[in-house]
Amino acid sequence: MVGLPTVRSCSLPGLALLLALASATPDVTCTSRSLLQKHSDVGAAAGALQAAAYSAVDVAIVGAGYAGLSIARELQKANVSFRLFEARHRIGGRILDEDLNKQGKADDVIELGGQWLHDTHTGVLSLLKDLGFELYEPGQQLGSQKFPCGGNCPERVSTSRGWLNTSSMHGRMVVPMTMEESTAFEEALAAVTEDISNTPCTEPLSHPKAKLFDSLSYSAYLREYHKLDAFPNVYSKVADQCLEAEAAKNVSALHCLWKASCNGGLRTGSVQYRVRGGPQAPLQHLAAQLPHAALHLDAAVSAIKQSKEHRALKVLVTNTSEEVLARHVVLAGLPPRQILGIQFEPNLPEEVVQLLHGLSLGSIRKYSLVYKTPWWRAKGYSGSLRYVNYSLPSFDAQRCFDNSPYSGSHGVLTCMTTGDVNRGLESLSKEARFETLQAMVQEALGPPGKEDRSPRVVEKDWSEDARSGGANVFYSPGAFASSWPGTSKVFFHHLLDKSIWIAGADYSSTSHGYMDGAVRTGQAVAKLLVQKLRAS
Ligand SMILES: Cc1cc2nc3c(=O)[nH]c(=O)nc-3n(C[C@H](O)[C@H](O)[C@H](O)COP(=O)(O)OP(=O)(O)OC[C@H]3O[C@@H](n4cnc5c(N)ncnc54)[C@H](O)[C@@H]3O)c2cc1C
Repeated sequence: MVGLPTVRSCSLPGLALLLALASATPDVTCTSRSLLQKHSDVGAAAGALQAAAYSAVDVAIVGAGYAGLSIARELQKANVSFRLFEARHRIGGRILDEDLNKQGKADDVIELGGQWLHDTHTGVLSLLKDLGFELYEPGQQLGSQKFPCGGNCPERVSTSRGWLNTSSMHGRMVVPMTMEESTAFEEALAAVTEDISNTPCTEPLSHPKAKLFDSLSYSAYLREYHKLDAFPNVYSKVADQCLEAEAAKNVSALHCLWKASCNGGLRTGSVQYRVRGGPQAPLQHLAAQLPHAALHLDAAVSAIKQSKEHRALKVLVTNTSEEVLARHVVLAGLPPRQILGIQFEPNLPEEVVQLLHGLSLGSIRKYSLVYKTPWWRAKGYSGSLRYVNYSLPSFDAQRCFDNSPYSGSHGVLTCMTTGDVNRGLESLSKEARFETLQAMVQEALGPPGKEDRSPRVVEKDWSEDARSGGANVFYSPGAFASSWPGTSKVFFHHLLDKSIWIAGADYSSTSHGYMDGAVRTGQAVAKLLVQKLRAS
């Protein structure tokens, strides 16, 4: 679209570019002329050029998850030149699917990372619709006749009175409570709802108690401020409304209130649809549509430097001698620690650095028990269970659910273990982890039949994944209020510094932490970039 002032846009891939330069093809203008003139010896020139060679594009996108690929799609539609750099050997980021039978059948996959979509996730839903991907609700899989209760069998919940069944009231799952608990629950919910409505999404610090709420963890806010300490079952139910992949005692209460405010109220449930073929498939589809040589895998960006000579940003990629000049760079979905690991020249603004230091990633693992059959259905259970660990200070709730593939080729129970519980599991051996989770499942659902006594395990601990480091970001107590200037700049303007942009689920005020947030911010940044490039 718009070329750089001193360099013409060049779309040759690295090796072809070097060969073209070594033979001094007059058509190639994307290298330094002075170097060409200095080195009469072709071999020496090629060596020197290898270090200096670069290509030039309008936009360099860093990260090929939902955010990065959404940006690429929009830029491609607008005919803007770009390169997409992904550090891993695969695309998808925190989206990863596993083919259970290794026969390449789309309907045999289960999700190891992001999975669920909801009607409120309109950004990602319309993208998937455009791409022709189907969604389905649990119970609608092939062979759904095997689901008793029309797919709405009770969930099992561990309470201080032992394991109980939930019941369904007005379409909502209801945790069994005593009269006293129900009253405490309604009162706490009303009080939290009022605090949320007094915490505007764009001005959360205007709540008169914003600083106090930021200093409290969500756990302390509920137990001490809203006096739920005497009602552990109620506490665990309300705490669940601020769904972070981290213990409530580690998350700022103001962060939870702000997030709920930006999303239109307390969580109504983000668990609704799965993508048929898995959520990684639409990304593979998008990647396959990209222009030739636009996507670079195994290409971790290590530095982004201002080049005064070219009035552009120089993007340095690890493991390759290629440098890319770009008018704009978008960091797409990189968790804070990954951004802080990149060398910026000049440095990022202080308020942005402070914000990135204040954001943490929750600890999360998906642990799937792959059985021959979904044996719990025959017992009249949905397979969903919520286990509250009452021995922990913040009664962390863990959940498992029926995650059988669409094809019905296996029965799969997937448990999401988070926060302190997950850190505890990390310290166990593989065998001990299996014993622990198997025991929890059997306590809730009873023993499986003979053929299902030795399930296969498929697990992914995202906290140990070097490029992700967890599920999604949250603010620790005390971090939100102090980093608000950086937050408002990043979350509402998507700008880190002049021509460095940011997108991704972690930096979205709407659908924060979800695939939808990644798509929305990606599309918003792409729109701003196209406008800017057209105007220049
Ligand atoms: C276990 C789990 C369960 C989840 N469940 C759900 C759910 O049910 N529903 C939902 O909507 N969301 C869920 N999420 C969250 C969802 O997966 C993420 O919000 C979303 O995928 C993030 O997309 P993104 O593009 O913003 O970031 P990412 O997917 O993380 O993409 C960022 C990319 O940048 C790359 N990268 C990092 N550093 C560099 C570098 N220096 N150079 C080049 N590339 C780099 C990374 O490798 C990665 O591919 C879940 C996440 C996890 C882990």
